[in-house]
Amino acid sequence: MEQEREEEILSAIHHCVKCKLCSIASFHPNAEWLPLCPSGQYYGYQAFYAPGKMEIFRAILEGEITEPSEGLLNSVYACTVCGACYEKCKQITNVELGAPELFEEMRRELASKGWSLDVHKSIAEKIKETKNAYGEKYEYKAESSDANADVLYYIGCTARYRVPEIADAMLGIFDKLGLKYQVMDDEWCCGSVLFRTGQVEAAKELVAHNVEEIRKSGAKTVVFTCPGCMKTFEKNYPDMGVELVHSTQFLTRLGNINLKKDDMKAAYHDPCHLGRDLGIYEEPRAVLSEVADIKKMKREKEQAWCCGSGGGVKSAFDDFALWSAAERLKEAKEAGAEALVSACPFCKRNLKEAAEKEEIEVYDVVELVNRCLEG
Ligand code: SF4
Ligand code: SF4
Repeated sequence: MEQEREEEILSAIHHCVKCKLCSIASFHPNAEWLPLCPSGQYYGYQAFYAPGKMEIFRAILEGEITEPSEGLLNSVYACTVCGACYEKCKQITNVELGAPELFEEMRRELASKGWSLDVHKSIAEKIKETKNAYGEKYEYKAESSDANADVLYYIGCTARYRVPEIADAMLGIFDKLGLKYQVMDDEWCCGSVLFRTGQVEAAKELVAHNVEEIRKSGAKTVVFTCPGCMKTFEKNYPDMGVELVHSTQFLTRLGNINLKKDDMKAAYHDPCHLGRDLGIYEEPRAVLSEVADIKKMKREKEQAWCCGSGGGVKSAFDDFALWSAAERLKEAKEAGAEALVSACPFCKRNLKEAAEKEEIEVYDVVELVNRCLEG
């Protein structure tokens, strides 16, 4: 790491006064203390909270830690990089410590020394071989309605291989509304999991391929149902001169599309990459309010509780991921919701798995919109 960058990071870390207020949601609106950091809440030790991770990064940079133990690696990687600590700290201190980026940078530092978790290394291998994060050898079948359409739908690995009902719903919406769209003939993983787990070198060929394919397509707008993909395009890809929009932004812009409202009571779960990373809070709520009655949960928007699956956690610490999701489902039920609705395939997958033991439905907002559109 360059010395100038190291000094910047150490300066940010020294700004952290270890007050740990980033571990709890604001007290006054809820009149109770509610946890905000899933990692710290589940594992309990200081090393799993943001100030503990910063201390670990400082010790690595200053050479106090030369060989990480298994426990240390767990505290670094059992973090969903959800950004809740960063948002809370910013509100309290008015200083932007950039915690999730710092944690990703710490992972880059570890990865450069070969200290990534084996499970994350194996995902990188699968991507290298199959160009998708799940190592699947088959292809999700989707075709462009018009090879010259201005709109391109980037589907993403999770909607293609784990929750295809989301990709089906988005394509169903395009078709029912008679909108022209392209899908990529040869869509590769966006590289999100590699960036989030510090394996940036392995992501380079994915970025180059996707950029080339999108440039060739001539599309002016790329639509995402996956906020993780969208964040990666926004923050880790070069500027392609195209507009990047989330499905809920795209739907909001269409205006009145004659949705038949359901009588479902639904809570909206803010995906971390959509809310805290991309600042998109209102459009999903606007779309959801057209198809269901929204029940408000206690922790939302900047202080939303993470579903627990991001940052490489789902693959490496599934027990923690499912616990975090179960906490969110309980919160939705307490709010009086019959369904928890998100706007992210990765959230849906984890929440749905956790919901097998809970009496609550889980959807993506595009599924409800597709269902409420006249066929
Ligand atoms: S990150 Fe911010 S809120 Fe958290 S312990 Fe450090 S100074 Fe306090
Ligand atoms: S990014 Fe999320 S899980 Fe990680 S330390 Fe911060 S609040 Fe906890």
